[in-house]
Amino acid sequence: MGKTGGKGLSLARRLYTSRILGLALGLLLVSAAMYPLNPAPWVWVAMLLNAVLWPHLAYQWARRAQVPYHAEHRNLLVDAFLGGFWVAAMQFNPLPGATTLSMMAMNNVAIGGLRFLLAGTVAQILGIGVGLLIFSPAFIPQTSQVQMYACLPLMCLYPLALGWICFRQAHTLGRQKRELLALSRTDSLTGLLNHGAWKDQLEVELQRCKRQQQGGAIALIDIDHFKSINDTYGHVAGDIVLRQLSKMLKQNLRAADVAGRYGGDEFCVILPDLPLTSAVAAMDALRDRFATLGYEQSPALKVSLSIGLAAFNPAHTDATLWLNDADQALYEAKATGRNRVICCGDGEPHHELLDSV
Ligand code: GH3
Ligand code: MG
Repeated sequence: MGKTGGKGLSLARRLYTSRILGLALGLLLVSAAMYPLNPAPWVWVAMLLNAVLWPHLAYQWARRAQVPYHAEHRNLLVDAFLGGFWVAAMQFNPLPGATTLSMMAMNNVAIGGLRFLLAGTVAQILGIGVGLLIFSPAFIPQTSQVQMYACLPLMCLYPLALGWICFRQAHTLGRQKRELLALSRTDSLTGLLNHGAWKDQLEVELQRCKRQQQGGAIALIDIDHFKSINDTYGHVAGDIVLRQLSKMLKQNLRAADVAGRYGGDEFCVILPDLPLTSAVAAMDALRDRFATLGYEQSPALKVSLSIGLAAFNPAHTDATLWLNDADQALYEAKATGRNRVICCGDGEPHHELLDSV
């Protein structure tokens, strides 16, 4: 649970509703236990103020606090203290007393764990102490039938409300966890898989290829002279080029293909179950299409791609070896003039399959 600002405030909001409910039902229980004891009028007033005024006061207090989270912890200790106080006032009537203390303990452990349960217990004991000082110490060993029925609404409804609140919170946390996981695997500029996430997929693909004794290919795609594009047209234009390439990858690859941003101006693709010649054709078509793209903001801008391809072969005992082959092919594409697809496959030395310059 967050300890500052917004989060603390959302805790205060949740507790506002549950405190209104808990104390309204608690008023019924305490009234039934106190009525036979014929308490002084101020005691009735105190009961009413506790049940009706305190939830609003507590909420406003927390809302205006610098750290609402801490203010709510203090409010919960006040709840526990007052609970102890009313238990002593009810002369330890067993069922209303146990219900009051246990509902508050449930609240405290749900919100602050064992440490807060302990703090709440101390507050309850202090409340009992003050109650004993104000009311003459006495013990009522039996709960009447009316008092028992008066306890039932709190016993039934409050755990339901708290359970619902905990469920909602667990649900929200689960969603946030999934969102964070997706974020940690995504490249923020292009929306493609980031380096780490793509390499995880490469590992999965390698294992699949090993098992099935067949495989696809991987491609490393690098934008030619990207540094000078940045230098000439600016980094914003450079970012547009990167996004265009990722968009083209998303639009032109098959659903099973996995594209990622390897880093900087380098992209990577897994092409499962694709013969090498088809992979070369697919990458060359991509290279060709990208070279003809126009850019609204920079009409003179033309961008070419160098692509290194490597098919899976049994010598690829780990993903790095496979990746090295693609990297070598890319290096060769750069070294032999750029704007081309070079392929390294079938355990053969790197050779150029297509040179479209
Ligand atoms: P080559 O043809 O040999 O690939 O040359 P290059 O200029 O493309 O290669 P180099 O690796 O020297 O330059 C890559 C540049 O990409 C350098 C870096 O400033 C730029 N870059 C890396 N990440 C980003 C990004 O997110 N946005 C932009 N605009 N530029 C980036
Ligand atoms: Mg480059």
